[in-house]
Amino acid sequence: MFKTIVVAVDGSDCAKNAVNAACDIAKTHDGRMIIVHAPQAETSAFIVGGPVGYHELLTAPSHAELEETGNKIVAEAAAIATEKGCSVDTDMHVGDPVRQVLKVVKDNDADLIVMGRRGLGSVASLFLGSTSQKIQHHATCACLTVV
Ligand code: ATP
Ligand code: MG
Repeated sequence: MFKTIVVAVDGSDCAKNAVNAACDIAKTHDGRMIIVHAPQAETSAFIVGGPVGYHELLTAPSHAELEETGNKIVAEAAAIATEKGCSVDTDMHVGDPVRQVLKVVKDNDADLIVMGRRGLGSVASLFLGSTSQKIQHHATCACLTVV
């Protein structure tokens, strides 16, 4: 049933849990996984050494910095999947994550989106992050939100 699984990641712990859950589902259903990350210029943040993640800074990162960070985030997620014995494709494009996730779903005729309940953002909305909320609102396939 779940043959093509899109996993949305942002470098957060919830997103890592989503990758692990997606691996289990992919193995059970003999499915393939596509890991998607869309770093956003307007977040005014980028990685400063150390572990992969965003650190808020006063200046907005350049496109190249966003791409560099984005590549690290997808590589880290792909490494988790590879370690669990799943082969994965990755998609990293600077831009709106909701639009990018839905585009990858459409282009690949995916059956399932797996994402984290929360990400790296501030706790602006109480229960669900705004990205996962919007993805679920617009998705035309099954969605799994992982804690
Ligand atoms: P908010 O961003 O609304 O302040 P948040 O960061 O806690 O809150 P979300 O951004 O909705 O919550 O993150 C929830 C999940 O959405 C993440 O675990 C990840 O699966 C996905 N996600 C978030 N940002 C991105 C992104 N830039 N690219 C791909 N997926 C993302
Ligand atoms: Mg967020």
